[in-house]
Amino acid sequence: MTATQTILAFAYLVTAVLFILGLKFLSSPRSARTGNILAMIGMVIAVVATCFDASIISWTDIIIGALIGAPIGFVSARLVKMTAMPQMVALFNGAGGGAAALVSTGEFLRLFEGSALPTWDQLLPIVLSSIIGSVSFAGSIVAFAKLQELMTGRPITYAGQQIVNAIVLLALLGLSGWLLAGNVSVPVFAGIVGAALLLGVLGVLPIGGADMPVVISLLNSFTGVAVAVTGFALNSTVLIISGTLVGASGTLLTMLMATAMNRSLANVLFGAFGAAPKAGEATAAAAAGGGAVRSASAEDVATMLAYSRSVIIAPGYGMAVAQAQHAVRELAANLEKRGVDVKFAIHPVAGRMPGHMNVLLAEANVPYDQLHEMDEINPQFEAADVALVIGANDVTNPAARNVQNSPIYGMPILDVDKAKNVVVLKRSMATGFAGIDNPLFENPKTMMLFGDAKDSVQKLAADVAAA
Ligand code: NDP
Repeated sequence: MTATQTILAFAYLVTAVLFILGLKFLSSPRSARTGNILAMIGMVIAVVATCFDASIISWTDIIIGALIGAPIGFVSARLVKMTAMPQMVALFNGAGGGAAALVSTGEFLRLFEGSALPTWDQLLPIVLSSIIGSVSFAGSIVAFAKLQELMTGRPITYAGQQIVNAIVLLALLGLSGWLLAGNVSVPVFAGIVGAALLLGVLGVLPIGGADMPVVISLLNSFTGVAVAVTGFALNSTVLIISGTLVGASGTLLTMLMATAMNRSLANVLFGAFGAAPKAGEATAAAAAGGGAVRSASAEDVATMLAYSRSVIIAPGYGMAVAQAQHAVRELAANLEKRGVDVKFAIHPVAGRMPGHMNVLLAEANVPYDQLHEMDEINPQFEAADVALVIGANDVTNPAARNVQNSPIYGMPILDVDKAKNVVVLKRSMATGFAGIDNPLFENPKTMMLFGDAKDSVQKLAADVAAA
C-alpha cells in the first residue's frame, strides 16, 4: 500500500465514522443540526479524498460535473419550500439511484471493451446495481411527478396490472440470468436497464395518496443498496459503507412509517391506497359525523381557550402552508401566561415529511418538552378542555377508526375528538392529502374557525392576551 492509499483509506474511515455519528445525532430533534453538520463534513472529506485517487481519468469531467451539480443543489435547497421537501427528496434520491446505475453501466462498458469478456463475478455487482439504481431512478421520478402534481397523485390502476408487472420482472430476471450465464453483450445489458426502468415506473404508478412518503423512503433505501453494490463493483469501501448506511436507515424508516400508518409494506406497494373512493364511501364517512358544521369567530374561540385549564394543539400540513408556527408559539406562550397547560400532539405523518411538525415547531423555539408523540398524548385528550387542530385533517379523521371502507381505515390518528371541545382551523371544508371527508368537522363538539391558519392564530394570540 502506498502512502497515498493509506491516507485515502484513513480519510474514508473518518468519513464512515462521521456518517454513523451523523445518523445517531439525527435521531433527536435536539441534536439533528449537529448530526447534519457532521455528515456534511464526512461528505466533504469523502469527495476531497476521492479527488486524490490515482484512478481518476478526467479532471475536466469532474470539474464540469461539479460546476453544474453544486449550484443546482445549493440553489434548490435554499429555495425549496418546506412543503415541497418530499418531492425534492424524491428527485435527489432519483439522482442518486441514476448515478449508481450510470457508474455501473460505465464499468460494464469498460470491462466489455477490455481484452477478455467480463466474468460472472465481475458482472454480478454491476448488474445488481444497475437494476436497483434504475428502479430507484425511474420510481423516484414518477413519485416526484405525483407529488409535484405534474400527474395525478392518486394510484393509477388497470386490469391485469400485477400480471404486467410480474411479466416485466420475469423478463428482467431472465435477461440478467442470460447475461450472467456468459451471453455478455451490450443489447442484453441495455435490455436489463430498460426493463428495470420500466419496472420502476410501473411499480410506483399504483401507489398514491398518503402512501407516497413510505414509497419515497423505500426508494431511498434502494438507492443506498445500489450505491453499496456499486462499491463492490468499483472496490470502494467508502461507497459500500455509506450505501449500506443509507440502505439500512431507509429500510428502518420505511418500516417505521408503515407501522405508523398501521399498514404492511406489501399493502403499501400493492394495495392502491388512496384510489378514488368507491360509491358510498364518502357517504359512509359523512354518516359517521353529526351532519351540520358549526362555524365560530376568533373572539369566541379565544375566550374558550383563555378560560380553559388544558389545551392540546394538534398541528398539521396547513400550519406548514400558512407558516403559522411562530404565531402558534406566541399563542401557546400567551395561554401559559394565563396558567393554561399547553401541549402539542405530534402525529408521525402530519405534514408532508417525517418530522415535519417537529422541525417547524423547533424553528419557532417551542420547547421540546411540550411536544408529545401520538401514543403518549392520545390518552390525555379526554382530560383536555380544548383540542386545537391547526391545519391538520387526515391525521385527526375518526373515519380511520370506524369507517371500514375508508381508504385510511386502520391508520392510528390523534384522538382529538375525545377532548371536551374541538376547534379546527382551516380555510374551507376541503379534504386533506388522502382526499376524503372528515366526520370530525360535523361532530357536535367541533367548532370550525375558517381562514388562513396564520391569520387565525395571530387573532387568537392577540385576543387571548387581551382576555
Ligand atoms: P392534510 O393534508 O390531511 O390536511 C391539511 C389541511 O390543511 C387541509 O385540509 C387544508 O384545508 C388545510 N390547510 C392548507 N393550507 C392552509 C392554510 N394556509 N391555513 C389553514 N389551513 C390550511 O394534513 P395532515 O397533516 O392532517 O395529514 C398529512 C397527510 O399527508 C396524511 O394523509 C399523510 O399520510 C400525508 N403525507 C405525509 C407525509 C409525511 O411524511 N408526513 C408525506 C406525504 C404525505 P383547507 O384547504 O380547507 O385550508
